[in-house]
This record gives sequence, structure tokens and C-alpha cells, in this order.
Amino acid sequence: MLKVALSHDVDRTRKHYQYFSYLAKSLVKRNFDDASYQLKSFFGKDEPYWNFPEIIRIEEDLGVKSTFFFLDESIPFRLFNKKNWQLSLGRYNIREKKIMEIMQYLDKNGWEIGVHGSYLSYNNEELLKKEKNNIEDIIGHQIIGIRQHYLNRDENTWKIHKKLGFKYDSTWGLTRGFGFKENKITPFRPFDDDFLEIPLIIMDTPFMETENHWERYKSVINELEKSEGILVINWHQRVFNEKEFPFYKDAYVRIIEDCISREARFATLSQFNNEITTKNENNH
Ligand SMILES: [Zn+2]
Repeated sequence: MLKVALSHDVDRTRKHYQYFSYLAKSLVKRNFDDASYQLKSFFGKDEPYWNFPEIIRIEEDLGVKSTFFFLDESIPFRLFNKKNWQLSLGRYNIREKKIMEIMQYLDKNGWEIGVHGSYLSYNNEELLKKEKNNIEDIIGHQIIGIRQHYLNRDENTWKIHKKLGFKYDSTWGLTRGFGFKENKITPFRPFDDDFLEIPLIIMDTPFMETENHWERYKSVINELEKSEGILVINWHQRVFNEKEFPFYKDAYVRIIEDCISREARFATLSQFNNEITTKNENNH
């Protein structure tokens, strides 16, 4: 039976410096409609990246729950490094009332909260420990799951995750195309103990940018149905804005509806982790 775990990396919740780059692009293309949308959403009360209510509505309608990985980014701003702008200026404050409230709401209502490790945390135990503590403090209990921002990882990342008490990681995945990184289809245990890697199979932009993605999708599903694999999906919170990410939301819904029609079983990553771990214990 096909198993599906939905997830959302929460990289950004508001537009900041991006307004200016989108606006400049629209003006260059003489797309004045879009330029005026960008201006309105900058000066207006619009919050184009606050898509939590929409995600909750979609998932409630379809009868599924997901895991939200929250980012506690603290990288310092560097004026002469453009990549850094997105990382430092795009960040949100995890202690903001509105953010804490949505995290608590999700946690209390059957969604899972995980840690989205900050850009430099994949090899920095102290930093990641602080982030984990901050998020646990907000929701009031232990967090067992993590995915690293940009899927950053090196040979120490899993060790750090395990040491900090995470039970599973879901960073193992492709940033181009989609499917199985190094042909690993099923969840696996890197240290042969109870720490589990649950591979990420489909991510929004790499999926949308793959030619004939529905064809490729079918063969990925076939592989998963034959094995004990889990279809782990990551649709970033911000891509549910249809104006800036046309067809992303539709594709997300289409995947879920397709899986429902295949009688797939949906659960959060932590539920699958618990199931796999209990099964292993019973076999010993
Ligand atoms: Zn991220």
C-alpha cells in the first residue's frame, strides 16, 4: 500500500526585500499589472506569503495532515553577498506572536511541528541545539523531526541530529528533478540504531521544473507502491501563493487526490517514524 507524508518547509512568511526585485523585473518587462500588484502588496496589508490558513483549509477538505518544518534563522546580514540577502533579510522571527500562535494551533490540531535547521546549522551542534530548544519552548514538548534548509548536509549532519535527540531526519533528497537520491527508496538507518532517515521524494520547484513531470511521477509512485517506501512531499509554505507560483497549489492538490484514488495511507512523518520503530522492536 502506498504511504504518503506531506510536509511544508516554512522558509519565509512575509515578503521583504523580494518586493524590490519582483517589482524591478515587472517594470523591465513592462508588466504594469504585476508591478501594481507588487506595490499594493508591499504598501498594503496584504500578506502574500501567509498561506497557513489556505493550507489548513486544503488539508482539512482532503482529510490529511502534514508536518511543518519551522526555521529559526540567525545568519548575519552581509551587504556584499547577494545570496545572503535572501537568507538574512528573508527571515522571520520565530518569537513573533503570530508565528508562535500558528505553530501552537497546528501542533494542537494534529499537524506535526519539526525543525527546519538554519543555513549554517547542518554542521554546528550548538546553533542547532539553540534552534531546537527555541521551537520546543514555543510548542511545549519535544520535537523529533528535522529537515535542513536547502537540504544542506555533510558527513556530520546525521550525527549532530542524533546527538540532539532527533529521531528522524528528512533531508535526504534531490534538489534537481525528483525521485530517489542515490537510489534509496525506503527509509533507512544510517547508524543501524533507532535514528531514521526518511528520504524526501518530491519537492515543489524541482518537480514543477521537470519536463513531463506527471509521467515521471507515475513511475516514482510505482516504485514506492512496490516497496515499503514513503512518498515524502515538500511544498514550501510560500508557494501556495498562486500569483507568484502559478499551478503549484493545483499540483499539490492533484498529487494528494491521485494518492487518495490509489487508496494511499496518509500520516505525518513522526507517525511513520513511530510505526517503523515499533515494528522493528517487535521483530527483535
Ligand atoms: Zn528551507
